[in-house]
Amino acid sequence: RLTSEKAKAMLIFTAEELIKKEEYLGDIDRAIGDGDHGIGMSNGAKAICDVLQNDSITDIDQVFKKAGMAMMESMGGASGVIFSSLFLGVGKAAGKKEYLSVEEFGVGLREAVAMIQKRGKAQLGDKTMLDSLIPVADVFQKTQSVDFLEVLEEAVHAAYEGVEKTKKYPAKFGRAKFLGERSLDKQDAGATSVAIIFEAMQEYLK
Ligand code: ADP
Ligand code: MG
Ligand code: MG
Repeated sequence: RLTSEKAKAMLIFTAEELIKKEEYLGDIDRAIGDGDHGIGMSNGAKAICDVLQNDSITDIDQVFKKAGMAMMESMGGASGVIFSSLFLGVGKAAGKKEYLSVEEFGVGLREAVAMIQKRGKAQLGDKTMLDSLIPVADVFQKTQSVDFLEVLEEAVHAAYEGVEKTKKYPAKFGRAKFLGERSLDKQDAGATSVAIIFEAMQEYLK
C-alpha cells in the first residue's frame, strides 16, 4: 500500500529526476523530433514539485490529480495532455482515502492508457510513450504481488525493453513521422521519459 504522504514524496522525487534528465531527453528528441521534450518534461516536473510541496493534500486521488493538472497547465500542447493523463488516470482510479493498493494503481494505469489512446490515437508499435507505458500497465495488471517495490522492479524492466523496441519502429506521430525510415535506430523520447518516471518511483521506494 502506498500512503498519500509517501506518494507525494515519491512524485516529488520522480519530478526531480526528470528535471535532472532535461538535457538527455532533449538530445533524444532532437535526434528525430524538435528537441523540446526535455524542457517540456522539466517544466511539467517543476510544476509538480510546486503544487505538491505547497498544497496540503491528504487524499491520494488528489495527489495524482493535482500532479496531472500541474503538468497539463505547465506543459501545454499535445505532450502536456498525454503525460498529464498518466497521473490523471491513476488519480481517477484512486479513492478519496489515504492509501492506494497495487491493484488500484494498475487500474489507474490502464485508465491512463485508455485516455492517451482516446486522445492521441496511437497504438503499440507507433514509436510513442505508449511503447513503454503499455508494458508497465500490463505488468501491474498481471501481477499477483501486493508489494509496490516488487512490481515496480518488473515494470521498470518492461519499460526499458519497450524503449529498446522503439528503435525498431518508424515513427507514426509527431515530427519524427516525416523522417519515415530515418527515424529507425533512434529511441523515442516520450517512451524514455516513462521509463525514467517508473525507475524513479522504484528508486524512491527502495
Ligand atoms: P512535441 O512532439 O509536441 O514536440 P514532446 O517533444 O514533449 O512534444 O513529446 C514528444 C513525445 O510525445 C514523443 O516522443 C511521443 O512519445 C509522445 N507522443 C507524441 N504523440 C503521441 C500520441 N499521439 N500518443 C502518445 N504519445 C505521443
Ligand atoms: Mg518535441
Ligand atoms: Mg514540440
